Amino acid sequence: MSGANRVAPAACVIGWPVAHSRSPLIHNYWLKHYGISGDYRREAVMPKDFAAFAGSLAARGYVGANVTVPHKEAALALSEPDDRARAVGAANTLWLDHGVLRSTNTDVEGFLANLDACAPGWDRNLKQAVMFGAGGAARAVAHGLLARCIGRIVVVNRTFERAEALRQMFGAAVQPARWEELAAALAGAGLLVNTTTLGMEKQPDLDLDVGLLPADAIVADLVYVPLVTPLLKAARARDLRTADGLGMLLHQAVRGFALWFGRTPEVTGELRALIEADLARPPDNSVRADTGSRAKR
Ligand code: NAP
Repeated sequence: MSGANRVAPAACVIGWPVAHSRSPLIHNYWLKHYGISGDYRREAVMPKDFAAFAGSLAARGYVGANVTVPHKEAALALSEPDDRARAVGAANTLWLDHGVLRSTNTDVEGFLANLDACAPGWDRNLKQAVMFGAGGAARAVAHGLLARCIGRIVVVNRTFERAEALRQMFGAAVQPARWEELAAALAGAGLLVNTTTLGMEKQPDLDLDVGLLPADAIVADLVYVPLVTPLLKAARARDLRTADGLGMLLHQAVRGFALWFGRTPEVTGELRALIEADLARPPDNSVRADTGSRAKR
């Protein structure tokens, strides 16, 4: 096929619901910024239809996709996962490799790259992290922290059994703890990470005293609506270094773009400002800021 006839590559984010996803804004910004002819769309796909959809990506003109709630486990099962997706037990990025559907989990590198950018050297001599939550995002964070050789991850979760399951999955460095043990754990923590939905708009706050953390601790929150969660606000009021959920979202998008469109993009202040502005818009306008995409709904 001649270059002139080649169809521009397209990718999408598959979710149910998917209207809230900022991924189209991010990827279409990069496509435009790098002058790449391509497209990135939203695809609202019900759980019962996911397998058929994932199996027909090429027929639909897609070179790959992001996968969000509730399809990440199904995406793993239906693809050839890399070590990272397998270790986390969920896939959020799919791509076609000579007809083979492959997958990875970019939340791991998104979390780590964001911390590297916001708090350079954060992992130097870090002996203990405290992590709230034991869901899918917590598995990605735990995998990332262990890859950086963090000695101990104390996990506090509403459902204690899920924290124990994390220990079984990742080994003795993961230590489930009860809420009553939190004060002691925080006193010895160089990093606090919230991977729960607490602090998210319309959700209760994560009720804890950041004053219990050492003065050089770093606080990371995966929640990005609102951008500055009550946890981050409290940490900043104490002059602690912080890493927010939007930074992670931007950094996790890098690998998918590189896989689908052939160029490793940069997370810049301009991109961040674009998404921040979208997050600040009233809900009705915010998710339609990228109406240029040919989303099928
Ligand atoms: P998930 O698998 O459903 O896990 C949710 C976690 O939140 C569980 O630990 C759950 O505890 C806890 N939780 C929910 N409601 C709670 C409540 N009322 N009180 C106490 N704990 C509660 O979800 P996920 O995929 O891990 O996502 C978690 C958060 O991370 C979401 O806010 C998501 O948007 C965010 N996230 C952000 C990024 C990013 O790029 N910034 C990437 C991935 C995820 P139980 O186990 O007791 O139910």
